[in-house]
Amino acid sequence: MRVTADRELCVGSGACEMLAPDVFEVDDDGTVHVLQDEPDDPDPVRQAAQQCPTRALSVEE
Ligand code: SF4
Repeated sequence: MRVTADRELCVGSGACEMLAPDVFEVDDDGTVHVLQDEPDDPDPVRQAAQQCPTRALSVEE
């Protein structure tokens, strides 16, 4: 699995960070940063992509 974030779409809600804090971090600039673009644990990352309010996260299986 590979995950990417479109920071133009991110509104900094932090939902992804709550679900997968090892993978996503909302930085001081208010947008998400991907800490692991090939995550060890894919399930919370899939959930985060589904729950992102602006569909800013893309997952390739
Ligand atoms: S859930 Fe979406 S909008 Fe919220 S911080 Fe993560 S990427 Fe950004």
